[in-house]
Amino acid sequence: MQQRPTRIVVDLDALAGNLCAIRAHVGVPVMAIVKANAYGHGLVPVARHLQQQGVGQFGVAFVEEGITLRRAGIDAPILVLGGILGRQAAQLIQHDLEITVSSLDKLRQVEAAAEALGRKAVIHLKIDTGMERIGVHSYSCGPLIEAAVASRWCQIKGIYSHLACADDPASPMTALQLERFHDACAHFERLSVPMPIRHLANSGGVLHFPATWLDMVRPGILLYGVLPDPAAQRNVPVVPVLSLISQVVYFKVVRAGNPVSYGATWAPPQDTRVITIPLGYGDGWPRALSNRGEVLVRGQRRPIVGRICMDQFMVDLGPDGTAYNGDDVVLIGCQGGQCIRVEDVAVQADTIGYEILTRLNERIPREYI
Ligand code: PLP
Repeated sequence: MQQRPTRIVVDLDALAGNLCAIRAHVGVPVMAIVKANAYGHGLVPVARHLQQQGVGQFGVAFVEEGITLRRAGIDAPILVLGGILGRQAAQLIQHDLEITVSSLDKLRQVEAAAEALGRKAVIHLKIDTGMERIGVHSYSCGPLIEAAVASRWCQIKGIYSHLACADDPASPMTALQLERFHDACAHFERLSVPMPIRHLANSGGVLHFPATWLDMVRPGILLYGVLPDPAAQRNVPVVPVLSLISQVVYFKVVRAGNPVSYGATWAPPQDTRVITIPLGYGDGWPRALSNRGEVLVRGQRRPIVGRICMDQFMVDLGPDGTAYNGDDVVLIGCQGGQCIRVEDVAVQADTIGYEILTRLNERIPREYI
């Protein structure tokens, strides 16, 4: 089938290179975070490639993502990071997915499901050290840890927490969270049982806080070559993995004063050349880029003009600009020595790189090189 003239190009060599760079930086195993369609890059192809590079642990958000990976033949351990309901426990165990246990209640539910199936559940205990999301508070985690250690039906593989402010190297929050995490882990020493795998660092931790690397790190966005914060230091040599490319499908001259697109929010001060690009917010391209964003056409930065529509948007080439139907238009990526990074798009759209990537939806075909 002929594909639409818009595509996401995922550079698998760049992905493998980023994994290598992160491994070399931290010197501990990497849990590759592939939730949300591998941050928009495509869950199965990304996980397959990472598994070929020797990744020995994946992290997803939901049971369904884990099942998709299992059905695709990924046999490495997969931790479901999100909170679960008791009714999901059996499904997790049946698909050999590792379970986040974040309270005594949930431990009991997982134990019951494991006993009914006659099969041990592999669990990671989730400690809340300051995020106030899921997880038992570090100051009251003793009973959960004792019960999990004593459990016949649960095997504790890991203990973890999540950093709230690691993208900011100056935040005192990370040191506080690390201290609380160590307090929680000390229960294992007190009980004289082996310490499970301790994992805490997301991409921000990998970049800025070596003390958080512990036994394993959990980078997501950095694997894809994007910084967790545009101001973060790029002290790990990662490169962007994803490009978003479309093509010119229409060219016209707009007369001075004639407004462009819904709401008539922009009109050229003089006659100008305007091209139409066939994607829009229905593909996940943020409407917030209306009259703000830029794209690359023939190696030059050109402004998005007027409101972004569901399936199309317009770009001003200026009175003398040239472009032809079928010319490539780069929304994320490089052309002619110019680059637009996910971080740039996020700043223009007043959001974060994570949202830009994960919003790019299944309407856009992905191509793997
Ligand atoms: N660990 C957990 C529990 C997460 O929820 C996430 C993502 O939000 C990550 C790790 C990866 O985070 P990042 O993409 O900032 O590296």
